[in-house]
Amino acid sequence: MSSTLTSTFRKQTRGPVDLVVKNAKLLLESGIVRGGIGVIDGMIAVIAGDEHLPEAGTVIDADGNILMPGLIDAHAHIHDPTMLEHETFTTGSKAAVAGGVTTFVDMPLTNQVDTIKAVEDKIAQGEEMSVTDFTFYAGMMNTENQVAIPLLVEKGVAAFKAFTCEPYQTNSGVIVKCLSAISEVGGLLTVHAEDQGILDEFGSEMEDEWDAPISHSLARPNIAEQLAIRQSIDIAAQTGGHLHIAHVTTREGVQEVEKGKLRGVMVTTEVCPHHLVFCRDEMNRLGSKSKMNPPLRAREDRAALWSALLRGAIDTVVSDHAPCPIEKKEAGSEDIREAWSGVDGVQMILRVLLSEGINKARLSYSKLLRVCSRNPARIFGLYPKKGVLRIGADADFVIIDQNKEEKITADMMESKCGWTLYEGMTMKGVPVMTFVRGTQAFNEGKVTVKPGYGNFQAMGSGDRLTGD
Ligand SMILES: [Zn+2]
Repeated sequence: MSSTLTSTFRKQTRGPVDLVVKNAKLLLESGIVRGGIGVIDGMIAVIAGDEHLPEAGTVIDADGNILMPGLIDAHAHIHDPTMLEHETFTTGSKAAVAGGVTTFVDMPLTNQVDTIKAVEDKIAQGEEMSVTDFTFYAGMMNTENQVAIPLLVEKGVAAFKAFTCEPYQTNSGVIVKCLSAISEVGGLLTVHAEDQGILDEFGSEMEDEWDAPISHSLARPNIAEQLAIRQSIDIAAQTGGHLHIAHVTTREGVQEVEKGKLRGVMVTTEVCPHHLVFCRDEMNRLGSKSKMNPPLRAREDRAALWSALLRGAIDTVVSDHAPCPIEKKEAGSEDIREAWSGVDGVQMILRVLLSEGINKARLSYSKLLRVCSRNPARIFGLYPKKGVLRIGADADFVIIDQNKEEKITADMMESKCGWTLYEGMTMKGVPVMTFVRGTQAFNEGKVTVKPGYGNFQAMGSGDRLTGD
């Protein structure tokens, strides 16, 4: 980094920078500052008050709006080569930049990326098709592929996933061995934590009620999440290694994570926008579109998630973006078990946090910066190249008009699926421009960069814990 910085500064003193964005409220780690930034070779070269900004080839007036680091969506099912009818690197990455997301961490749906060949193939596909930067999970860990962890970490793919429940249920031994390996070589293990025994038992009680979408939630009670999180944290306490709990949804689950943090276990967690917006009692109205795992929960759980986000018990907000062709949702209109589990989200994270968070005083701007950008960059080993406005960091940023209102419709969605769970909602606070490495990728409703612009980002060791 230091040699790059030196050359950046040398160039800066020689003449104008490539791009200046002025008249912004800059969301820095230290707080909000009036001014602008200058960009050279895709990196932030200057952060200064407007009167001190250099000449530039291109000057953009941010109109007094907030300028924050681009979001890092650390859990998005964007490109699985066996399910390209759902989403692709191109469509999913366009949805990302339209939502202010400048880097996403792809997670496979079915297709493992657990060999060096698979990693190289996926990097090549992404760099050909994605409009923005990306990295990815290896996929679901099992008895066979856990031995690949050190090799994959060396290659920059340092995020692994395990399930305590179907469809990729593994045993506790695999979780023990994966976390032990990770404690030696870095990386993190993300666990989808729901106890399969509880799901089996409660699911079998729902006899004739599967025509009601809410049954999907009632069949997966909170205690399933609580027990699986508790056990995963107990394992991590023994093995060391970074445990990341995927999409926490319940008050009890948050409490377990918080207790783990207080015990000194290296555990972080994430929450999804749909769990911050919708509740279980809306499922029958929303229909089979509202099916995902873990499911929508009670109102008290939603309140607990917002408060956990504000106090730092939840580290980051991720989309768990996993939409599907509408037919796969409609297949569950008579029996919710037949519907695909998953919804859109990569275009909605920032909108939800602005409209439901900032706008309703449930979130501060400094917390927004942490949960959207800085924390995921740290957890996934991308900091400080990503996730922060800092000299020498990649010039990934989004400009937000907090006073603008927008009605959410399927038409504005860049995702391949052509529908959105948020249809018809009016939201206040809109990402109006997104820049990736100094290039404008999204401008007032239009994606302005071509597929192939995105680069793979190797996960470094990071410092993992967010300190929040
Ligand atoms: Zn997921």
